[in-house]
This record gives sequence, C-alpha cells and structure tokens, in this order.
Amino acid sequence: MAEDTAIKRILITAGTHGNEMSGIEYVKNLQTNENIASALLPAANGIDIEFVLVNELAIKRRIRYVEEDLNRQFSLEKLSVLSGENLEHQLAIEFNMAFGPKRKPTRDLVIDIHNTTSNMGATLIILQADEFHQQMARYVKQHMPEAIILIEDQIPYQKHAYLCTVGKKGLMIEVGPQPQGVLRPAAYLQTELMTQLIVSFCDLWNKKLVDIQQEVEAYRLSEEVSFPLNSNNCKQAMIHPALQNKDFQLLKKGMPAFLTFEGENIDWNGEDDVYPHFIGEAAYYHLDIAFALAKRTSL
Ligand SMILES: [Zn+2]
Repeated sequence: MAEDTAIKRILITAGTHGNEMSGIEYVKNLQTNENIASALLPAANGIDIEFVLVNELAIKRRIRYVEEDLNRQFSLEKLSVLSGENLEHQLAIEFNMAFGPKRKPTRDLVIDIHNTTSNMGATLIILQADEFHQQMARYVKQHMPEAIILIEDQIPYQKHAYLCTVGKKGLMIEVGPQPQGVLRPAAYLQTELMTQLIVSFCDLWNKKLVDIQQEVEAYRLSEEVSFPLNSNNCKQAMIHPALQNKDFQLLKKGMPAFLTFEGENIDWNGEDDVYPHFIGEAAYYHLDIAFALAKRTSL
C-alpha cells in the first residue's frame, strides 16, 4: 500500500438534498451532540473529521433543491467558472473552494449521506472498484450483512458530477425506504451504523490491518429505465405491483415491469438478468425515470 492512500481527512456531508432527513439529522447530531459524535470518533484515530450540512436553504424549506439538483453540479466543467448560473451551481462552486478543489483534492475521503424513497435498504455507493473500495465493501458487509454494495464506475471517477467527487475519494450512503421530508428510525440507524463502519475501516486501512480475502456480492450500475410514455410524453403506465419494492431482486425477460392505466401488463423486454433499484424513487418521477438497472457481480 502506497503511503499516499492513507485517509487523514474525512468530510461527512448531508443535506446535499434538503429533504433527505436521515443524513441531515445524523450530521446535525454529530455537530451538536458530544455523545453521538464520540460514538463515531474513537475509531477515527488520528483522522480529522469534518461534518457539513450542505444546502442550507433547501434544508430549511425541506425541498430537494431550490433551482437545480446540487448533486449534479460537480463536474470539472461546471466548477471551472467563476459564478454559477443558479443557486445550486453557485453553491457547488463555493463548496469546491471551501472543501475541494476537485482538481487537487484536500480531503482524502468525502462521505455524502442520502436517502431514497425506494426500498433499496442500506446501500453503499462506490464510484471506484480499486483495492481500497473493495476492502471497504468487504469490511462493511462483514459487520453489516444486510448492506448492499452498488458500484457506479461506468465513467471515470472525476467525470462524475456528484458532490463527493471533490474528495480524493468519494462515496455515498443511500438508505431507503424513507419518504422525503421525514425521518424513519430504520433509515437513521442504518445510516449511523454504515458511517461508523466506514470510519473504522479507514482507521484499519491506515494501520494496514485490513486484508479481507472473502469476496462479497455487489451490483454494478448499467442503465436507467424510463416509464413507457405516450405520444404526448405522458406516462402510460405505472410500475407493476409485482416489481414495486423489489429493489435488487432479479428481473428476467418476460416478468411484469409496468402496468398500464388500462390494466395491461408490460413485461420486461430489456436485458436479461438485471437488478432494478431506485424503483419509483420520488426524485426521479418528474424525470420519467422508473428505475435503474444493475448487473450482479462480486467484489
Ligand atoms: Zn439524495
């Protein structure tokens, strides 16, 4: 392990989306409650950890964003201009100056906490599948067997426009189901546990004390699937009741995927043996995205 892979500075963020309460409440507690912070920090031997609530106006209004999705503003192109085209673009530029810059990161790891309305469980989204993330995934699964590992490495790390990519390494915690704007205890507790495990893993990684040989199950994002639309671009079907809430369960050709408003089944006719997730996610509904697909793999 090269010396420069040590994790010395971690940034934990929430409120990138202002209506995702599990991360917002957890980070607020880390900032203000010594007992809660101290449950996280013992593992952080010599690691400097910062806690930040990102989009304060969106959090105050309990909305995902004010003008544009903040978690799509962190491309190198968008960060290269001096002033933003809207509130979230401007926020991204300022955040990049304060905690980046993405071109030359100052934080070794950014953990950005989200939640979803879909039934995804406690999902660790990693953007690279190198040794560090592989060992992390194995460590998290070892201590939290119900955790799902989702790899989004379809493009190079720096090409992602996610907030967490201002760090040298960046990842997201995505827990569901939790409706927007409310806190569900299971989502909170899973968020807290997964964050603690990631921090303890970083401590072990720094001390070169982690070398897990056993591979774990993981999923790799392949594509997004849109709702069937009619010629007026209106949805002509909803998610099939047999598919609703079946995140990360096998979908094969011929299985029902949608139900038209006239009561007809639309069977899955895309790639075989895929694993839908973000099924019916509220934030994607207006974009006509029904779910995302992943292929099963191991890490
Ligand atoms: Zn989010």
